[in-house]
Amino acid sequence: MSVLLSIHDVTPAWQPQVETLWQLCRERGATPALLVVPDWHGQWPLRDSPAYVQWVRRRATDGAEIFLHGERHDEVGLPRSWRDSQRAFGRTNREGEFLTLDHDAAYARIGRGLTLFAELGLSPIGFVPPAWLCRQGTHTACAAHGLAVLEDDSAVYLTATGTRLESPVLRWSGRTDFRARGSAAQAAWRWRSQHDAPYFRIALHPMDLEHPITRQSVIDELDRWLQARPARRYAALLPDAVPLPGAGGDGSVSNGIVNVSPEVSK
Ligand SMILES: [Zn+2]
Repeated sequence: MSVLLSIHDVTPAWQPQVETLWQLCRERGATPALLVVPDWHGQWPLRDSPAYVQWVRRRATDGAEIFLHGERHDEVGLPRSWRDSQRAFGRTNREGEFLTLDHDAAYARIGRGLTLFAELGLSPIGFVPPAWLCRQGTHTACAAHGLAVLEDDSAVYLTATGTRLESPVLRWSGRTDFRARGSAAQAAWRWRSQHDAPYFRIALHPMDLEHPITRQSVIDELDRWLQARPARRYAALLPDAVPLPGAGGDGSVSNGIVNVSPEVSK
């Protein structure tokens, strides 16, 4: 058993918080994946922060896997339909950049991110849509760009084979006192009820450090999860990919996705 560990919202806008989260993981012997945003809210272009990019490159040298995490990480210029609003309800404060995008729009944004990363010397293994919200078009866009891994808040997807690995995720929200208390309680519940999940994830956000309750909960949960289970690289999941039906796969299938539930996977 192991745990997939990541730091979201890696951007110069959150520099001190991201570095603290990185330290918390490293002090516990773990190397988290880094979810890097090319231009946070249109105001923090990575291109203008060479020292910060160098910090990220050094972490990659330390073994951190790099993910592309949106382009701007907001919904500016992207009106929601009522259906999008329903889907995003309670899940994000207008940060679902990929929530409304079809294949072509997702392909273009991801493409610009990959061009930038190549310029900056960063090699991403995959893509994570902000707030874990996207449509099928983002899945096909990732596959078309050759990105190996995509995740949302219920699963990790291996794009080459369309494999879906069911994967609960521990995350916090410290936006209000109420949410902070709720997420600390949920963290304790996940330990009791999901510590046997084969693809368990812990997703750290810079904001987690801003509220004393979520900050303490992050520290407590990192302590017990990382003592019990080593952090695992996303790349280590790639051999778990199940071939698509017709190529010898035996998973259940919906919309071209092969589902691997915890019961049938190792
Ligand atoms: Zn994010």
